[in-house]
Amino acid sequence: MSETERQVFVATPTSFALEAHLAPYAAHSAASRGRRYAEQPPSARTEFQRDRDRIVHSTAFRRLEYKTQVFVNHEGDLFRTRLTHSLEVAQIARSVARNLRVNEDLVEAISLAHDLGHTPFGHAGQDALHECMRDHGGFEHNLQSLAVVDQLEEHYGAFNGLNLCFETREGILKHCSRENARRLGDLGERFLTGRQPSLEAQIANVADEIAYNNHDVDDGLRSGFITLDQLSDVCLWHTHHEAARNEFPRIDGRRLIHETIRRIINTLIVDLIDTTNANLVRVAPESLDDVRRSPPLVEHSEEIATQAAALKRFLFKNLYRHYRVMRMANKAQRIVTGLFNAFTEDPRLLPPAYQVRGPVTEESANDAAAPTYDSSQARLIAHYIAGMTDRYALKEYQRLFVIDDN
Ligand code: MG
Repeated sequence: MSETERQVFVATPTSFALEAHLAPYAAHSAASRGRRYAEQPPSARTEFQRDRDRIVHSTAFRRLEYKTQVFVNHEGDLFRTRLTHSLEVAQIARSVARNLRVNEDLVEAISLAHDLGHTPFGHAGQDALHECMRDHGGFEHNLQSLAVVDQLEEHYGAFNGLNLCFETREGILKHCSRENARRLGDLGERFLTGRQPSLEAQIANVADEIAYNNHDVDDGLRSGFITLDQLSDVCLWHTHHEAARNEFPRIDGRRLIHETIRRIINTLIVDLIDTTNANLVRVAPESLDDVRRSPPLVEHSEEIATQAAALKRFLFKNLYRHYRVMRMANKAQRIVTGLFNAFTEDPRLLPPAYQVRGPVTEESANDAAAPTYDSSQARLIAHYIAGMTDRYALKEYQRLFVIDDN
């Protein structure tokens, strides 16, 4: 099967029926810029539903359960993981999408896939791997999420990766340097021309922020790293905490915290829908192409954006820089760097699938299935480490560095 980049879909009776309610500026399956490898249309789903389903069935998706969001998985059973974070993002994004009559299936696919490329140990792991890869093109989790769905998943007979639609891949690639954008062809174009992605991609992006700002407050309080007293200086928290207390004077503890957080999430979602709706009325896009040419349309009102930014600053200062979080980050950095260095010094320590087998031949260089991917030894090591769960990385570190009698 050949790579097309622009397989044209036709509206099937199923996709037409399932997407008939969408606004003209939504992403419709039939107007998709297609999959990289041509496939038969799905019989009982839309193309974006198929993407969502492929993501849920992927190996990388299951790994999210054991990857750190802020707290390392083994620190407690109730903290968010990358998996529960992704589910919360999808929930928020779908609520917004349904209200704006844009494609819920696409927004869900993007939300569930957006963190597939995260390393073990959250941002500390990513920063360490980026530093290790400094002379080899760097490491960036967005690009890695794309590599997972384009290249690394081994699920289908006809192609590597999941062969997702252009719009899903576009949504996954939130940020991109100009250098990488040039290399990515079609997908990188918007970073060079200053165009926007679909509304569905814009929604998933803001939903990500709404989700982590709120669940990090919840997890931060649960861990005791931040306190209610500290939070009382944060306007968004204070307003809703007071309102919850006034309405339910007899509740306290976890119940009051949840009651406050649900009010904050609701306020952010409703504000996002209202402000975006007003933008859509003002700009009046008639198609997805109009959306791409417009300024970003999915946004909060100025007042709420300011309040949300203050909450984010609070979390950065008091939670993400808390000394106990920093200790774990430091440990994570040593594990990732230690693994990378050991594998670089002696690639024979790697599982065979991650060892470069000889120089690239003319024949393999012409292989349409993997034409532009970096297959250097350093990149394969980065793929291997990035795919690890927290506990797998810890075990691998012990296997390589700890001499015991087992
Ligand atoms: Mg995220």
